[in-house]
Amino acid sequence: MSDLVSRLQDIVGAENVSAEAEELFLYSKDMGTMPPRMPDAVVIPNTTEEVQKVVKTANELKVPLIPMGGGLVLSGLTRALKGGVILDMKRMNRILEVNPHSRYAVVEGGVSQGMLKAWLQKYHPQLKHSMPDAPPIATLAGNVCIHGSGHLSVQGGYHSDMLTGMEVVLPSGEVVRTGSCSVSPGWFAKAPLPDLSGLFLGWAGTTGIVTKLGVQLFPNYQYNDVLIFVCEQAGQMPDVISRLTATQVAEDMTPWMTPKPEWAKGFFHINIAFGAHSKKELIFKRNLLQASVRSYVDEKIAGFLPIPPAQKDRFMKIPSPDLARFADVRKGGGFEYVGAIMAIERFPEAYDVGKRVAEKHGVTYSLGARIVGAGHSMMFFYAYAFNRADADDVQRAAAALEETNEACLKLGGIPWKAEQPAQQAIIRHMDPNTFDLMNRIRDTLDPQGIMNPGNWEM
Ligand SMILES: Cc1cc2nc3c(=O)[nH]c(=O)nc-3n(C[C@H](O)[C@H](O)[C@H](O)COP(=O)(O)OP(=O)(O)OC[C@H]3O[C@@H](n4cnc5c(N)ncnc54)[C@H](O)[C@@H]3O)c2cc1C
Repeated sequence: MSDLVSRLQDIVGAENVSAEAEELFLYSKDMGTMPPRMPDAVVIPNTTEEVQKVVKTANELKVPLIPMGGGLVLSGLTRALKGGVILDMKRMNRILEVNPHSRYAVVEGGVSQGMLKAWLQKYHPQLKHSMPDAPPIATLAGNVCIHGSGHLSVQGGYHSDMLTGMEVVLPSGEVVRTGSCSVSPGWFAKAPLPDLSGLFLGWAGTTGIVTKLGVQLFPNYQYNDVLIFVCEQAGQMPDVISRLTATQVAEDMTPWMTPKPEWAKGFFHINIAFGAHSKKELIFKRNLLQASVRSYVDEKIAGFLPIPPAQKDRFMKIPSPDLARFADVRKGGGFEYVGAIMAIERFPEAYDVGKRVAEKHGVTYSLGARIVGAGHSMMFFYAYAFNRADADDVQRAAAALEETNEACLKLGGIPWKAEQPAQQAIIRHMDPNTFDLMNRIRDTLDPQGIMNPGNWEM
């Protein structure tokens, strides 16, 4: 241990390494239900070269390395399941380039969502990037690595679809680039090359450490608006979502269903955010969206919720504070959700699962979804709040999450950013040849098995 710590100190400086119990405790868990796991040390590098040296040292000493961005994944993916060193990316927080014409930004692996948003607002107010509703300290790299989604996902897909290239330190310590930046100075696209970025997306930090990435930017509209569509039957939702997405004018579409407040109970709401360069365009888009579901309104079986002007800003906030507010409803700082990636037509059954499981386990719940692409899929979320200081409460939420994961898999959905037991449940449903290929790739990239071990393993 003392050899490890002193060698890490030589690489990044003594103030950027810790093996103090109090500090390690903070890195041993996240807000979710997964039990804490104490790491042996934490290291906070500042450059790609430092990351390389840390990786080479870990290889030499056969010590696990766990890459961490904001540590907000909630499913315990940044815990040291087999001990080892947490590699905290926060100091690698430089924004390297914004290309206003090809609309992309290149950032280091520790740049947070909030930093890029603030930078664009200050220097490129005509541009924006797609943000998750996670607290703004979540990193772009951490979110892209888990196939996150956000407020432009109806337009641009998953955040991994908006990726234009990466610089990655492999488990061997070598640096590779994926996408156009591996051939040209520009970070504009992954095409037309073999898409090697897939080697690092969805792997829970088991195949490499992303030190730089390029992400697509989008026009930042001057005029913005939100509509809230409401209906009473889950069975109507797939058709409503299909109609609304077919207009291709919304930026974000988020259905939500909660038992509280009382006025919302039993109804299916869809927040539809859209923007425009002029008032005329905004009205045109609003009319298109409303016309797409007019037959429901005419038949008086659904409608648009009037939103008082003073309330509109709240629904248009990016990131939306609503989930974060719900997360704290039980106090005690516990929060986790199953986000299952699913086909849109599964909406009614997905909703039944959430209600049934939450009521069975007596957990405080909020259900919803984020529509991704032009209705191509959705991330259906089952958010369970719990008090982390109350062991029974944590246990109830954990049991509800586990049952939800299984039920989603039965519906043909796939738990997203799955915690370790849910990864194993996915593997049990997976084509064995796919899992075999995953293992062969991993063995090739990381023969010593030092990268975030314990994940994607049976
Ligand atoms: C209230 C709330 C709302 C949320 N809403 C959303 C939402 O709308 N959309 C959404 O997508 N998510 C959402 N989340 C989930 C999560 O917080 C985000 O996805 C977040 O962006 C994860 O980023 P992070 O930097 O915290 O990643 P971390 O938790 O640090 O890491 C996530 C995974 O990526 C790996 N990793 C991290 N950095 C690197 C790197 N540089 N190289 C290689 N691997 C790396 C880690 O090992 C881990 O496996 C929400 C969370 C909360 C608490």
